[in-house]
Amino acid sequence: MDKPILVVGGGPAGLAAAHSLASIGSRVALVEKEARLGGAPILSGYAKLVPSGEWAKDAIGGMVKRVEANDLISIHTSSRVEEFAGAPGDFTARLSSGSTVDAAAAILCTGFTHFDSVNKPEWGFGTFPDVVTTTQVEQMISSGRGIRCPSDGRRPQRVAILLCVGSRDRQIGREWCSKICCTVSCNIAMEIREELPDCHVYIYYMDIRTYGLYETKYYWRSQEEFKVKYIKARIAEVTSDGQKLIVKGEDTLVKRPITIPFDLVVHAIGMDPNVENPALARVFGVKLQEHGHIAKANAYCTLGETSREGVFVAGAATGPETIDDSIAQGNAAAMAAFAIGRKAPVAA
Ligand SMILES: Cc1cc2nc3c(=O)[nH]c(=O)nc-3n(C[C@H](O)[C@H](O)[C@H](O)COP(=O)(O)OP(=O)(O)OC[C@H]3O[C@@H](n4cnc5c(N)ncnc54)[C@H](O)[C@@H]3O)c2cc1C
Ligand code: SF4
Repeated sequence: MDKPILVVGGGPAGLAAAHSLASIGSRVALVEKEARLGGAPILSGYAKLVPSGEWAKDAIGGMVKRVEANDLISIHTSSRVEEFAGAPGDFTARLSSGSTVDAAAAILCTGFTHFDSVNKPEWGFGTFPDVVTTTQVEQMISSGRGIRCPSDGRRPQRVAILLCVGSRDRQIGREWCSKICCTVSCNIAMEIREELPDCHVYIYYMDIRTYGLYETKYYWRSQEEFKVKYIKARIAEVTSDGQKLIVKGEDTLVKRPITIPFDLVVHAIGMDPNVENPALARVFGVKLQEHGHIAKANAYCTLGETSREGVFVAGAATGPETIDDSIAQGNAAAMAAFAIGRKAPVAA
């Protein structure tokens, strides 16, 4: 029988890869470091996803269920791969649980780490309880608690969403655009206005990158239908006057300083490389690219190839990605890994 394919990481990319492989008859060993599958959308409690509008727990939860129900997929949660040796068609992985998995090929679907806003201290996170992140707002919505100020539970009357927190910021070594946070922020702004129609929502931006079809559905709709206000600005700092949070900066359209009070300030946090990438690179013998994401060996011929033959990569492990693109990459890597398995000599 063909050897299984090792899939590392049980987020959207890994779930897609595992399901695709199983649907063409391949066995899969799926290794996930957390106690449950689902990746960032489930583990971080996202609410309604863009662009589908489906709840993360239903959309990604559905992907988890079909993987858990598939007999061809053996699932190893709360596990990491500690050693990986061999050649294409004949690898062996040793897991932290002590078990050993033989594999024809491996797909790294190990995703990203959310930017930690304490690395941007001048914008108030960690100092003022009512400065929160987009993931915290997603959790407020998905838990049913609704949008509240953490300090005292009141409904905010004025909310500022600050874009590009931990992205496009050379001062703190994050040069990349995280791709999805503009659209996610427009969506959150509309959800806040829907829940709290009297609340004023402002989005502070450098540029708006609601690319492709998102422009109409999120950027224009948020302004025209939901009256979200946009300020093109450089933010200097977030402080407090004891009652309100104060966002200070420069309006870069009119070139004037602006100081506006808010009840709640939301950091639209970016997607850092997975903090475990150096360790993953060591174990799997693959190269990282300049910012610390797992490097792709080629952009077109075989999408998910890494620097090591037989080891593939998919999803946000390669750089900031959306869920649908991560799923597409998971499927593409599954096809390439399956081909390696088929070339392998069948054990006697
Ligand atoms: C606030 C926010 C909101 C977002 N909302 C949307 C949205 O609405 N729509 C959208 O398209 N995108 C959204 N995104 C982007 C989305 O989170 C990613 O596209 C998606 O999670 C990428 O999937 P992935 O499987 O590649 O990685 P992940 O979701 O990060 O999954 C990786 C998995 O690998 C596991 N793992 C990591 N390291 C190891 C290891 N060493 N060993 C074993 N397992 C490991 C992790 O625990 C995790 O389960 C959002 C991002 C942010 C920051
Ligand atoms: S998607 Fe928008 S908020 Fe996110 S980093 Fe890019 S420009 Fe900034």
